[in-house]
Amino acid sequence: MPTCQNCHNKWSWKQTFKRTFTSDGMTCPYCEDKQYLTSRVRKGSAIIPFIMITLIMLCNLFFGPSFIFFFALLGVIPLFFVIYPFFVEVSNKKEALW
Ligand SMILES: [Zn+2]
Repeated sequence: MPTCQNCHNKWSWKQTFKRTFTSDGMTCPYCEDKQYLTSRVRKGSAIIPFIMITLIMLCNLFFGPSFIFFFALLGVIPLFFVIYPFFVEVSNKKEALW
C-alpha cells in the first residue's frame, strides 16, 4: 500500500482502491495533498493487458482455439484489482512515463 510522500501516512487498501480510478492525481485522505502514481507502477499496469493477451494467444496456440482461457483470464481480472493497491506507490511529482 502506498505511503503519502507529503505526510508519510500509509493509505489503507480501501483508500488506495478508491483512488485507483482517478486518472489525474490522487488526493491523500490525511493531508489532502495531491499524489501521483510512480512511473514504475504506471509502466507495470500498462504492461499487464499485453501479458494477458499474450497468455491467451499462447494457450490457443498450444491447446487449440478455445474461449475457456479467455474466460479464465476474465476471472483473473477482479483478482488483479484486489491485489493492485498492494503494489501502488505514489510520489509528490507527476513522473514522465518513460
Ligand atoms: Zn498525505
